[in-house]
This record gives sequence, structure tokens and C-alpha cells, in this order.
Amino acid sequence: MIRIVTAAVLVAAAMIAPLEGYWRLAAFLVPYAIVGWDVLWGALRNIFRGQVFDENFLMALATVGAFCIGEYPEGVLVMLLYQVGELFQDFAVDRSRRSIASLMDIRPDWANVEQENELVQVDPEEVSVGQIIVVKPGERIPLDGVVTEGSSTLDTAALTGESLPRAVEAGDEVISGCINQSGLLRVQVTKPYGESTVARILELVENSSARKARYENFITRFARWYTPIVVIAAAVLGLVPPLFMGNWSEWINRALIFLVVSCPCALVISVPLSFFGGIGGASRQGILVKGGNYLEALAHVDTVVFDKTGTLTRGVFHVTAVHPRHVTSEELLEAAALAESYSDHPIAHSLREAYGKPLDNSRLSSVEELSGRGVCAQIDGEKVCVGNHKLMAESGSECHRCHRIGTLVHVSINGQYAGHIVISDEIKEDAPETIAALRQLGVKKSVMLTGDAKEVGEDAARRLGLEEVYAELLPADKVERVEALLAEKSPKSRLAFVGDGINDAPVLSRSDVGIAMGAMGSSAAIEAADIVLMDDKPSKIPTAIRIARKTLRIVRQNIVFALGVKGIVLVLGALGLANMWIAVFADVGVSVIAILNAMRALRVSR
Ligand code: ADP
Ligand code: MG
Repeated sequence: MIRIVTAAVLVAAAMIAPLEGYWRLAAFLVPYAIVGWDVLWGALRNIFRGQVFDENFLMALATVGAFCIGEYPEGVLVMLLYQVGELFQDFAVDRSRRSIASLMDIRPDWANVEQENELVQVDPEEVSVGQIIVVKPGERIPLDGVVTEGSSTLDTAALTGESLPRAVEAGDEVISGCINQSGLLRVQVTKPYGESTVARILELVENSSARKARYENFITRFARWYTPIVVIAAAVLGLVPPLFMGNWSEWINRALIFLVVSCPCALVISVPLSFFGGIGGASRQGILVKGGNYLEALAHVDTVVFDKTGTLTRGVFHVTAVHPRHVTSEELLEAAALAESYSDHPIAHSLREAYGKPLDNSRLSSVEELSGRGVCAQIDGEKVCVGNHKLMAESGSECHRCHRIGTLVHVSINGQYAGHIVISDEIKEDAPETIAALRQLGVKKSVMLTGDAKEVGEDAARRLGLEEVYAELLPADKVERVEALLAEKSPKSRLAFVGDGINDAPVLSRSDVGIAMGAMGSSAAIEAADIVLMDDKPSKIPTAIRIARKTLRIVRQNIVFALGVKGIVLVLGALGLANMWIAVFADVGVSVIAILNAMRALRVSR
């Protein structure tokens, strides 16, 4: 700033002062050196490094050229304006970086650990699993864990974009990054810091710029070719016509204008910034996008495939009936809950919950989970299988039908049918509106895949307003279905798969864009997915598509605007109709406008 002001004063003085010859040259060279030495130095250094065609080189060449043909004031003022533009550009880029950084301001600084009746603040990384930490009101929860004492409300806005406070009490799970609003909590840590929700989110967003969108790669390649071509064109323009027509200084002046306009920095800076902004804006809504390429793919999605349990339905089953054979209801439920002791499937959780009593794991051995079918285990030496009719057929047991609508969990003991438990799930509140919103956004096809029984799948689809549903699929069948849908869609459009991550990691990675439900989903799914929805709401999918489309729209606007203005000024310059001032606007002004436009990607309307 000081350099710019000093140089501006000196150049104004030089323009007024009645100086001649070398004195006049010296009077302009001083402000030129003050404002432009770093650019000249940068250009020289890069030439020695073999990177010739950068913006320093272009500016140095253009302004030194202006001095050579006696246009001293132009030489200084172009450099001056260029530096003003750079200053402004730095400011804008810095501001948007900072607003993205503040989004990411969820890293906990310390954890309170009780040592000899005193609270000590330690680095969250030093706390081990099983230790108890104390979270005071107003503090951020530093590590994932389970509340052992106290009750409070949590502000989850930083993670989910949802400002609704969530009530927690002893026994509830809490995730790091939430803010404890009211009461003192004691939390038993369940994961080391490196695997905690906060660490995973930060890692994901920080690495997102490594996965570039096609547009970003295009701009990098474009700049590599574009700049040398323009420099050669300028050389031809400055040297060839005057050979025939004379008037050297006029043609060299036109060539210099050409050079100033040609800098591609408007695109080189604004395109990655737009993607970064889009990703930042999405994470503010609890949508974590692992890279610009996924944002780009999301904008072109025209087929969305949903998993049912845990994705469109809440995955919290209620036992609605117990129909035993040869055993009591209590025995049937106990056998089922015990066999499911180690399963992460929503059905397993519900059965354990419905049984409600502590389970004695020591009676259990050789537990085997058969994904998409159920579990088999030895209980007191008897083989118990719990799952759907496919599993019953495999374990050699007959299987009874039921008059109730709902998911049937059949149980066999030593190959003999022992009855079934009827459970039913609820559709997520925002699921029907999600399907409608997708249709409104022009998504051609929404499809549901489920491993559940046909009637249950069709019943859910009807209530959701979905036309296409495929039921009784094993995880491998789901991959096959998705592959068939991938083959059906038009080559330019993309297919998104949305799952809760319980046994659907293969489909998540097979689809163009894999979307996982974050809080309930397994960590394997979060690894396999490209986009993670932190609050498990399917309605975040249309929001994500809207953000992606807006980001891409901004990128296209910037490309068209920057190339358009530059193209026009290049032509005008070659024809001798543009002067240096217009050229500087076409470079610096366009950069600044493009960057301001890119910053819009960060702002997301709720
Ligand atoms: P979805 O496709 O609806 O997410 P899954 O593929 O996870 O369902 O499971 C398909 C079916 O397999 C379930 O509806 C259930 O009948 C059975 N199943 C899977 N895992 C289990 C389990 N742990 N216990 C009982 N049944 C199970
Ligand atoms: Mg599932």
C-alpha cells in the first residue's frame, strides 16, 4: 500500500514537471522501480528457473517495452494498476479462505481429564479410549464417546448445519465437534482422536482440493498453452507488420497491449476457488464432499438409487408381533437377540432393544453374519439362525408366512423352525419430499433397492411416491442392478447411490457418486463414499445437487466472461482500437470480478 501511494505521488509529479531527456526518464524510472521491483525480480528469477511464461514475465515485458518506445507514463501506470489489482485480489482470496477456515473451526483445543480430583486440560490426541472426559457447558466436545453422567443439550450446527439443539443424557452417544450448551457432561471416550468425527471431517475437507474437477484440470492445461501462444502472437504483431508498413512504436505498443491482456490469472485463481467455495458451502450444511470432481458429477446426476433401510427409512424397527413355534415368545426373542449380539445391522439393534435384558455373551460361539440374509450362531451348543426366508432355506428349515405387513425375522434352532418376529420400520419424515424435490430438479429416475421382502419394499415405495423398486436383493445383486442402471442412462449423465453403509460399500464405490449417511453409517461406508451426509437426512441430496449446479454455473460464467472480455480486447488491441488502460482492466479488473463471483459459491441459501 505504501509503495503504491509513494509511486502514485511520484509519477504524478513526474507528469507535471517540465523535464526533458534523461531527467524525464529518471523521474519515471524511480516510481517504476518502487512499485515494480518485485515483479521484475520475480520475472528474472523464473526465467533462470526455466518457467518463463508467468504473469510477472508478461507484466515486466509489457512495461519495459513501454519504456523502450518512450511511453514512460504508461509503463509506470500499468505496473501501478497491476499492483493495485493484485492487492485487491489477495484481499479477496484471503477473505474467502478465511471464511472457509472459520467453517472448519471445529478442531478441539483440549479435553478435560480428571486427575486426582482435579481437572487437567490435555491434548485430545493424548486421551485414550475408555477414559472419562469432562465437558463443561459452552465447550466443544473434543472426542466421540458415550455420556456416563449428566444431561444437556448439544448444538450440532457445525457438523450438520442444523441449529436445532439435541438433548442428551446418560447412555447417549455424543460426537466430537458439537457444542455442549447447558449441563456438565462426563463422557467415556469410545474412539481415539484420529478416528473421531472431527478428525475425519477435517481430513476429508482438507484433502478435497486434491481431487480436481474436469474444469480445474482444463484450466491448468489451458494456461500452459495459452500464455506462450499469446506471447508469440504478440511478437509477430510487434515485428512483422512494421517490416512492411513501418511505424514501429505503434505496432510495438499494440503488441504490449496484447501481452497485458493475455494473463490467464482470472481463470487460474477463480475456478479452483469456486469449487473450494462450493465444497465449503456444502459442509456448512452438513454435506461433506470429498472433491471438486464429485461436485461436478453431482450437478449432472439424473438417476438416484436409494437403499431402503436406514436411508429412506429410519432403520429403527419396532417389534409389532412375536409368533413362536415350539418355544415361548420370551425364548424366541432371547435367542434372536443373543444371536445378533455382535451385529451392526439396524435389525440387530432393534431386536436387542426389544429383548431389553442384559445378554450373556459367554453362551455364544461361532457367530457368522451373512450379509443380506441374517446371522447364524451357536447358543449353548445349539445352532440358531436369525434372518429372512433365504436364510431359512439355506439352513434347511421350513419357513412360515405371516398375515401382517412388516419385515419378518425368522428364527430356526438346529434346523427346525422356531417362529418369527414381525418388525416394522418408519419412513423418514423428509423422504417423500426428497423424492418430489429430485423430480422437480429434473432427476429422471429415482429407484429403491432393498434386501427386504417384496411386499415391504413395495409398500414403502408406494408411500414414498417411487415408481421403481427392486426387492429381495443380496449385496451382490445390488451391484448388478446398479450396473444395469449405469448402462441404461445417457453417457453424459451421472448415477448417484445413497446408502447407510451397512453392507452397501461395494455399491457406493461402483456408482458415479456414492452418498453415505454419516452419523448412523459405518466408517467403512464413509471411506467408500464420495459424499457424506452428516445428519442422515435424505432431503440434503436435493440441496447438494443445487449447490453443485450453482458452483458449476459460477465456473462457467467466469470462463465465458474472462475469455470473452480478453478475446474482445485482444482483437481491439491488434486493430489498434484499445489502449493500455483497457488492457489493464481486461486483466486485473476481470480477475477481481471473477474472484468476487467465485466467492458466491460459498454462500448457500438454506
Ligand atoms: P436393505 O437393502 O433394506 O438395506 P439389507 O441388505 O441390509 O437391507 O438386508 C436385507 C435383508 O436381510 C433384511 O431385510 C433382513 O431380512 C435380512 N437381514 C440382513 N441382516 C440381518 C440381521 N443382522 N439380522 C436379521 N436379518 C437380517
Ligand atoms: Mg442397508
